[in-house]
Amino acid sequence: MTSTSDRIAALRASFDSGKTRPEKWRRQQLYQLMTMIEENETAINAALHADLGKSGFEARMTEVGTVLAEIEHTLSKLRSWMRPTRVSTPLSNQPGHSKVVHEPLGVVLIMAPWNYPFNLTLTPLIGAIAAGNCAALKPSEVSANTSALLARLIPAYLDTDAFAVFEGGPEISTELLEQRFDHVFFTGSENIGRIVMTAAAKHLTPVTLELGGKSPCIIAADSDLELAARRVAWGKFLNAGQTCIAPDYVMIDETVSDAFVGHMREAIRKFFGADPKASPDYPRLINERHFDRVSQLMEGGTVAVGGESDRAAKYIAPTLLTGVAPEAEVMREEIFGPVLPVMTYRSLDEAIGFITARPKPLALYVFAKSTEIQNEVIDRTSSGGACINDVVMHLAVPDLPFGGVGASGMGAYHGRASFDTFSHARAVLTKSEHLDVPLRYPPFSDTKLRWLKRLQ
Ligand code: NAD
Repeated sequence: MTSTSDRIAALRASFDSGKTRPEKWRRQQLYQLMTMIEENETAINAALHADLGKSGFEARMTEVGTVLAEIEHTLSKLRSWMRPTRVSTPLSNQPGHSKVVHEPLGVVLIMAPWNYPFNLTLTPLIGAIAAGNCAALKPSEVSANTSALLARLIPAYLDTDAFAVFEGGPEISTELLEQRFDHVFFTGSENIGRIVMTAAAKHLTPVTLELGGKSPCIIAADSDLELAARRVAWGKFLNAGQTCIAPDYVMIDETVSDAFVGHMREAIRKFFGADPKASPDYPRLINERHFDRVSQLMEGGTVAVGGESDRAAKYIAPTLLTGVAPEAEVMREEIFGPVLPVMTYRSLDEAIGFITARPKPLALYVFAKSTEIQNEVIDRTSSGGACINDVVMHLAVPDLPFGGVGASGMGAYHGRASFDTFSHARAVLTKSEHLDVPLRYPPFSDTKLRWLKRLQ
């Protein structure tokens, strides 16, 4: 068995050979990735179902289809992204011209979580390929079926000189993090993010951290409550709430809270029937540990909708909690499950104050008809991304960078942002040999100084 360090050394040798640089190679790899997905969609769906009970529709919408769309977008833009960007050159450097060259970083490490195990391993990989890198991939051991499938498929379709999949848990992550990479792209929890950043610091390796947090959803009294409930129910119970940008909690005008809860109850019934456990469209929690964790969090309030659970089936019904104290555990940690606390506010100021007093979230949502309310919420808060009158969907706009801010992460990806994350913007100035203005050379004089001041 080849050691981790030997496998990384082999990737580095491939990068140094220059084979990943041509646009043609990058395109070939992206097409191969597309073929891999198209030829194996059934196996991918089966793995996602085995790991998370995801329906074929949900798998297509949030994993397979999203990755295919990212590949297509990247292929359509790749040439223009790779083209050096011309910038103007000041008089002091004339005759000459300046450009930014987008060069690959080298060998990058991509570490993925279990909640969208296919999408969150491959979407960063698309950026790494587009920018001309070699990559080591570390899918999550928790979503074991998808991890095993990726470990089998990737070497069968992509250039094995340039890409390697490492299966395993923290021990293999630790071994990988001891190696020197040119970039580490990590998606996962804040705690492990700290471990990753500390390990990367030893090699001065830059990191992108795609973390989580508690994404709030403000609902104003003037919003279309039925529509808001439908969209929130969709975004919250997608993947049984195990979505980094799921609305973590609702913060609603107290005058419409009861009506909203009623609309949510109705939306859940329409989506999943009277017994969501029997619905083929409603997923399961990933494992018993998370089932226990989320069950515990449900104790932080009064169950207004749902509340049923079955540990053996890793099932927790879509649940709404009311009467939740701000200091309850469910309002302190990221829920990452199908439980939605409904908090109320008396004034928009109070709602905004509640949010800004807490760490900056990955996403923030606001439902309101009034553009003043929409603008006020956006202007006075900060988050990785935001949606007005919807949830989660900002992720599906390829030209919007996706990433966190503050405690929810650093750096961004998707589309051009991915290409930039995995590239170095190298400054290149080309000077002419024909003219050499002597001003900068000693000996200096007052006359030279006067000229310098004029030119600067
Ligand atoms: P995690 O942090 O437990 O695991 C992520 C990766 O780190 C996995 O590959 C895992 O094997 C590895 N890992 C685990 N322990 C490690 C250790 N001690 N040392 C080194 N590596 C280790 O995260 P998770 O539970 O898989 O995912 C859930 C979290 O991810 C949530 O907080 C969620 O919000 C976040 N998330 C963020 C995004 C985003 O795009 N920002 C997307 C999905 C999930």
